Amino acid sequence: MSHKFVYEFSEGDASMRNLLGGKGANLAEMTGLGMPVPQGFTVTTEACTQYYADGEKINDDIRAEILTYIGKLEELTGKKFGDPDNPLLVSVRSGSRASMPGMMDTILNLGMNEAVVEAFAQKTGNPRFVYDSYRRFIQMYSDVVMEVGKAYFEELIDEMKERKGVKNDLELDADDLKQLAGEFKEEYKSKIGADFPSDPIEQLFGAIRAVFRSWDNPRAVYYRRLNDIPSDWGTAVNVQSMVFGNLGDTSGTGVAFSRNPATGDRGLYGEFLMNAQGEDVVAGIRTPLTIDQLKAQNPAVYDEFQAIVDKLEDHYRDMQDMEFTIEEGKLYMLQTRNGKRTAAAAFKIACDLVDEGQISPEQAVKMIDPKQIDALLHPQFDADELAAAVPIGKGLPASPGAASGKVVFTAEHAAEQGKLGEDVVLVRLETTPEDIEGMHYAKGILTARGGMTSHAAVVARGMGTCCVSGLGEITFGPKSFSLGGETYHEGDWISLDGSTGNVYGEAIKTVPAEIGGYFGRIMEWADEFRTMKVRTNADTPHDAAQAREFGAEGIGLCRTEHMFFEPDRIAAIREMIVSKTVEQREAALAKLLPMQRGDFEGIYEAMEGFPVTIRLLDPPLHEFLPHDEDDIVALAGEMNISLDELHAVIDSLHEFNPMMGHRGCRLDVTFPEIGAMQTRAIIEAAINVQAKHPEWDLVPEIMIPLVGEVKELAYVKKIVVDTADAIIAESGVDLKYLVGTMIEIPRAALTADEIAKDAEFFSFGTNDLTQMTFGFSRDDAGKFLDAYYEKKIYENDPFARLDQTGVGKLVELAVDLGKQTRPDIKLGICGEHGGDPSSIEFCQKVGLNYVSCSPFRVPIARLAAAQSALNNK
Ligand code: ADP
Ligand code: MG
Ligand code: MG
Repeated sequence: MSHKFVYEFSEGDASMRNLLGGKGANLAEMTGLGMPVPQGFTVTTEACTQYYADGEKINDDIRAEILTYIGKLEELTGKKFGDPDNPLLVSVRSGSRASMPGMMDTILNLGMNEAVVEAFAQKTGNPRFVYDSYRRFIQMYSDVVMEVGKAYFEELIDEMKERKGVKNDLELDADDLKQLAGEFKEEYKSKIGADFPSDPIEQLFGAIRAVFRSWDNPRAVYYRRLNDIPSDWGTAVNVQSMVFGNLGDTSGTGVAFSRNPATGDRGLYGEFLMNAQGEDVVAGIRTPLTIDQLKAQNPAVYDEFQAIVDKLEDHYRDMQDMEFTIEEGKLYMLQTRNGKRTAAAAFKIACDLVDEGQISPEQAVKMIDPKQIDALLHPQFDADELAAAVPIGKGLPASPGAASGKVVFTAEHAAEQGKLGEDVVLVRLETTPEDIEGMHYAKGILTARGGMTSHAAVVARGMGTCCVSGLGEITFGPKSFSLGGETYHEGDWISLDGSTGNVYGEAIKTVPAEIGGYFGRIMEWADEFRTMKVRTNADTPHDAAQAREFGAEGIGLCRTEHMFFEPDRIAAIREMIVSKTVEQREAALAKLLPMQRGDFEGIYEAMEGFPVTIRLLDPPLHEFLPHDEDDIVALAGEMNISLDELHAVIDSLHEFNPMMGHRGCRLDVTFPEIGAMQTRAIIEAAINVQAKHPEWDLVPEIMIPLVGEVKELAYVKKIVVDTADAIIAESGVDLKYLVGTMIEIPRAALTADEIAKDAEFFSFGTNDLTQMTFGFSRDDAGKFLDAYYEKKIYENDPFARLDQTGVGKLVELAVDLGKQTRPDIKLGICGEHGGDPSSIEFCQKVGLNYVSCSPFRVPIARLAAAQSALNNK
């Protein structure tokens, strides 16, 4: 046989994750460990890729192989597909390499048809169970194949409940369910134009195709973009013989974590429901029982489960997230995977595993997702305001953190308003995978239904978003909800405490989080393994101090223009701009000098002797002038010039494309006195601060922006060097300084060997470099990038994640060329990408000395840099 596309569970193991997907590989591993796993086989991720390569078709070879494995499964189970006397029923489950919770669709009870159902009902003597399974199968199959969403079928169920005057789905009897199954099939026929397939083989291939297709559904695509999962990985399909948790009161289904995923505390943590199937526990249909209650109800099963959990943890050396089903008192394992956890839990579990001797510190550093750290650094409630507030209700503390925002009731509104920078809290009956984008933009999520493992809870924890779930007292009205005797409308402020489950009917101030001991321990290890330095982008002493607290080892980018917007300076900078002669301009700049020098002194102080790269003025000058006519009139008055004259200046500064206009080093080429003043401020500040701190060894780094040609760099550098040398000579101190440039124009990258003759360091300004390489601006790209994601032209935002193919090639080239001219050239990155883990890995590979990012991303960068160093050792 040419290529193997199908594996029985007993043929695989955990190391085959790329081929079998996470779910399939772990089912195989559990089978190998002798655990009670319903048997089945896995159609590989390569088969999925092949399906797309063949124009969305399952080709004959793969089809034949699947049929062979169906035969093997029939032999193994002693059951037969479509045999009314002894039917083989299976689940068809997706599973990709990376876990994508709730992102793909699963079909249960496949293999049922009228004949099977009749006979099966008789044989089991439990027609209710059989028809319940049947209607679920038709529902899931139709949903997945028709892609109409589950809502329609839920409506039919609700109508039925209403007709019968019952509340709970358990109160529907066999006949009701049989009737529902019929209604579902009719709906299928009317939508698809063909009868619901009764042939199990046809059902199976329909289901496998649907799973392959679901790899490309919008919510899967969105999740992949959020989590850097390439679209060419594909998903595997697992076909597994069914076990039934809905056979009656001695059957049930549940999910459990081997440790608490919110806090990291040791001990089993989970929920289950008796007489239920599949997703009932997490879908919030009935409120589940906690796993401790299983111990009381069925100690034998509980003990067996606990023993399996211990074995799995020992085996995987990580916290496990498991699914199980009890069929008439017998336990089956349906899934295990490394569990998602909150940032706080991630740090505690990693430290505990090291202390338990399960893993090394290196492994502990590698097992934490750097993006998660964000949640730890995020706000908590101000203790005093919290103490004064009275909760209006209490739900489950599903995902920790604090959120305060305006109420919205739909994910669309959450996304809309979140994008505008509004703080919103999403309030829902329960969430579904379709809500994912809105959940991402919400500050917090509140649901009326669902337990600690509900969709809302799992997704919110993964995102580090605060969530309170299962607050059953909420009643919904039209565009409003009531709780604690009050009614809240869209736009009203509420606050959620994801750590206690408390909900407040008012805004509560939030304050930055305090960083605990486990975090510190892991970060210390990370710093040991790291080879790249981590600096910060900071323009103020306040930001610099914040970044130092987070462990920054210097400033990679200090933008000087932000200082000019301060009310006490803007007048002087405007005076400089409207100056007509060099003398006027110098006079205005002289007013700015002491302020700018003071700024730099503050930053040097805050950075405690660590290196600071200061960039000369970058934006076009018109950014400093007013746009409103009222402000223009006022300014003319203040400046004592005529309105016409001021208008003339403003008109003369107008640019068609400011991004590519009169900015960066071009300003210093036209007005050398600006660069001279800034150099003076930098050097004098360094001399002053150095004098106060003899223990420091300050070496100012002066960075010339937007260079595309070595001669313009040489011209501006001469201004800098002449100014600096004169000041240093006069002061009599021995101060070293460096002059370097940003590489942010493609031409600079292409001619980096020449540029390096005059640049002692390069800092890759990958924001501009990305704009100029792609030819679209960051501020305008938002309008069309969504269409690009939709049409699969781009998988992610090139401004958030470095485009390694194109922009990265320029970076690599510039590194090589730069080193040819100046082997010891200092190399760093100061674009947004400096705080993005996958881009940091790239920086490590091409040999940069440091990354620089915003203060709140410094810990993320420290951890990501450590992981990059360990991965590239
Ligand atoms: P997801 O990835 O969304 O969790 P799963 O494939 O794990 O989807 O399945 C959904 C639900 O169906 C889970 O609760 C799972 O335990 C249950 N399930 C899957 N296969 C079987 C089976 N063969 N027998 C019984 N229950 C199953
Ligand atoms: Mg699911
Ligand atoms: Mg699952």
